Amino acid sequence: MSTAQTLTAEQILRLPKIVHHEHYDCSIRPGHVLSVGTARDFDIPGEFKAAWRNAGENLQEQAVAAANYQRWLHGHARESLTNYLSILWAQVLPTLQTGDYIYNTAKERIEDAVADGMIFLKLRFAPQLHQREGLKLQQVIDPIQQAVSEAPFPVRLVICALRHENGRLGRRLADAVIRNPLVSSFDLAGDESKFPGVLKWWAKQAKRVSAAGKQVTCHIGEAQAITEQDHADLDAIGCNELGHAIKGDPLGKLCTVCVTSNLVTHMAKSAETHPIDEMYHNGKKVNVDLDGTLLTGTTLSNDYRLIHETFGWTLADFYRCALNGLDHIPLPACEVRKIKTRLDEGYREAGLKI
Ligand SMILES: [Zn+2]
Repeated sequence: MSTAQTLTAEQILRLPKIVHHEHYDCSIRPGHVLSVGTARDFDIPGEFKAAWRNAGENLQEQAVAAANYQRWLHGHARESLTNYLSILWAQVLPTLQTGDYIYNTAKERIEDAVADGMIFLKLRFAPQLHQREGLKLQQVIDPIQQAVSEAPFPVRLVICALRHENGRLGRRLADAVIRNPLVSSFDLAGDESKFPGVLKWWAKQAKRVSAAGKQVTCHIGEAQAITEQDHADLDAIGCNELGHAIKGDPLGKLCTVCVTSNLVTHMAKSAETHPIDEMYHNGKKVNVDLDGTLLTGTTLSNDYRLIHETFGWTLADFYRCALNGLDHIPLPACEVRKIKTRLDEGYREAGLKI
């Protein structure tokens, strides 16, 4: 790479970014989890709870305690997928079970997204995971939708059904997608290795969502290669946006690729061998995406930097991927044009001739 092509961390941070694939519960600030987890004595290692208590009201010491906790979370999560999921289940989700916590953390996430350069964000969540203390499905959706309605840039929500669930719950989730104005999309997430393919009960509900004029996306090709049957099922639903899609041929569908996430969950062995570069150069429709920040210990700007340093991607490469993402924004054309203007301005400022 020549010096002229080297992008600084500051330049990358300022690049406008379009995000389709990010999980709300995987992007919570560590300070929130530690603060609530300590107050309510959740299953968090004692040393971190002690550090938080000792920090008292001192913001600087709180920040150190939160950073140390996140380092541990990241290290523990990357040891195995079982650890990753058990942290989410035992430490993160218990702190997101009241309307206030959900609203506040969604506001914080949106604030952090702005700082990371995002100009469009699709934030996904599984409302059924936030009902441990008695919230009804709509009582989970309302506070997050409220936070989204107050966002300083366009944000939309994605509701996820999980692979181990069933058609009964799937129907309620699909209904929620259809009736909530700021929910744009319906997703299938969860353990692809145990429940591979496009599940029939989900496809039936996804078709209803699609018929109601909303978007459908599906986590696929993360643990298992995408098959011809998968494409036939996805085409029948009208789903042309895939979560990850790093294994098998995504054909012409948008692939929301999350490099660091794939490394942490061992779906890719190393940054150097991650398929994003080959996918991009083979003409696949890649959008550089995030998945989450808390357990991966990354930001989207960090992932851009990793791709830049590993594969030598230039502004033109990132811009081309952003155009793939732009194409898929579930907003009226006039709104998408405004986002395109912001995108172009940011890349011109960085030095790209458009
Ligand atoms: Zn995901």
